[in-house]
Amino acid sequence: MRKSRLFIAALAIVAVASCASACAPTSHGSYPSTLGTQSRARDLLAVMDTPGPVELTTIVSADWAVDLDGLLNLDDPRAKAAGLTNRSEPIQIYFYVLRHPTFGTYIVDTGVERAVRDDKEHQVVHGLVARAMSWNALKVRTALGDFLVKENQRIRGVFLTHMHIDHISGMPDVPHGTPIVAGPGESTDKAFLNMFVKDTTDRELDKQAPIEEWSFMPDPDKRFFGVIDIFNDGSVWAIHSPGHTKGSTAYLIRTARGPVLLTGDTCHTAWGWEHDVEPGGFTAYHDLNKVSLAILRKLAKEHPNMEVHLGHQILVQTPGAAPPPPPPPLTPSSN
Ligand SMILES: [Zn+2]
Repeated sequence: MRKSRLFIAALAIVAVASCASACAPTSHGSYPSTLGTQSRARDLLAVMDTPGPVELTTIVSADWAVDLDGLLNLDDPRAKAAGLTNRSEPIQIYFYVLRHPTFGTYIVDTGVERAVRDDKEHQVVHGLVARAMSWNALKVRTALGDFLVKENQRIRGVFLTHMHIDHISGMPDVPHGTPIVAGPGESTDKAFLNMFVKDTTDRELDKQAPIEEWSFMPDPDKRFFGVIDIFNDGSVWAIHSPGHTKGSTAYLIRTARGPVLLTGDTCHTAWGWEHDVEPGGFTAYHDLNKVSLAILRKLAKEHPNMEVHLGHQILVQTPGAAPPPPPPPLTPSSN
């Protein structure tokens, strides 16, 4: 712990040199997306339980471990009552492959780049940021580039749940010019902590297309922060879920096996989902994150047939997923 504080102090010195006050997470360009149709809860709820045409596969890109106090708000009374204290928590980094019969193949989030395994000297996440994030402890299972080589056809776009380093770390493997869509304000929301990651995020996005940002409008039914019917056919929906970051976005996909919800980091852990506790130090806006988590949990409760895929741990084993061992249940730590 003392060691990581030293790293953070060193990072602060580097960061302040590049960005004197609160800054955006990237200098990469962005503009409002025109993709999809503004919609409302009523329209989503009307179709979500009808099996849909999209194939969705979860790919475990890497195994990792990070501090539990970043993943889970350990000050929450439920976490305290369970006796949870900080410890290193096993997690995974995912990307999702979404195959639409008409519109082609898209991915949600990006996993990790091949260089994390094959060319560590040139991987985009390096130096102090990598050390502070225990990045070198990553064990790569399927780099995004491995998947793309096998896929052997162009992906049509990348939908991001948000733009934290570990969700765009496969971006160097994405062919340049591929459309990239993230939530509103995701690349421009200013925060002091962005100083630490800005250079890394810029490198991850280097030479990529500008970020398109979902143009959410308030949900007329006041159930969600905003809903977009991405392909205008009710098959894939972007649901604005702000809090973890300003533009955090969940995705609901209608597959032949029923609805699938990708929560992104609105919830990192299985324990957090099951006990209604939002993430810890990795979250920017706690109160908002709590609201977004409650909205997604309500949707899941009302639709028990819906598969739920969390930001960093497997909650439900899906038929198409690689077979990772389920992460061990969180247990009270003695350290
Ligand atoms: Zn995150």
